[in-house]
Amino acid sequence: MEKLSDEMRARLDSVTENYKLIEERICEAALRSGRKREDIIFLAATKTVEPQVINHAISLGLSYIGENRVQELLSKYESYDLKNADLQFIGHLQSNKVRQIIDKVSLIQSVDSPRLAREIARQAKLHNKTMNVLIEVNIGGEENKSGVDPVALSETISEISEIDGVFIKGLMAIPPICEKKSEIYKYFENMHKLFIDISAKKSDNVSMDLLSMGMSDDYSDAILCGANMVRVGSALFGARNYN
Ligand SMILES: *Cc1c(COP(=O)(O)O)cnc(C)c1O
Repeated sequence: MEKLSDEMRARLDSVTENYKLIEERICEAALRSGRKREDIIFLAATKTVEPQVINHAISLGLSYIGENRVQELLSKYESYDLKNADLQFIGHLQSNKVRQIIDKVSLIQSVDSPRLAREIARQAKLHNKTMNVLIEVNIGGEENKSGVDPVALSETISEISEIDGVFIKGLMAIPPICEKKSEIYKYFENMHKLFIDISAKKSDNVSMDLLSMGMSDDYSDAILCGANMVRVGSALFGARNYN
């Protein structure tokens, strides 16, 4: 074994502490919302984090990791411990980059147009597979933010559900930054309502299994509002220098 620098040792120890704390909070929120710990997926958002640190988190029991930049994912790909964790794509994805990640991820969380879904399907078929996707919702209706407008969601989902090569597994959202808890609850609750409404429609090629929302500052709140997947970065790995 390579000897760790004191700095890296301290870094890994803090990830261990953070991991335990997040696990406890997820468990507590799951129970408070009438569910069990196993009902909630803890995905670590790993942007800017070195593979050594990510793999340490995996050794603690982390089973899901998500990258949000194609170049970064490719540069780290060979170093992740993917025997013990599942790699997903969670960031904004350009159609011309789909080809580079299609055989590397198990879920693309950020599909926000039929055009992108068609390209994902086309590339997936070249690999004889169907790609699981989440539909990203712009729940705050923010300009310049990706995601489907909630008003157009039902129609967009029926259009994407007809594309052979992709399978819709749920919804994802990044709500606006809110100062008050009551505001963020409103967005999380609206997402949960959309999730329930779409589940009730029972369309082909759609299975509303995953509601991915909640990040470092609000993952417990998201779980209380019905999220079953949270994406946590800085609370686990420490503050980043860039987003
Ligand atoms: C970075 C990122 C997160 C996690 O953000 P934190 O606030 O650091 O927990 C979640 N989702 C997406 C899409 C991200 O890019």
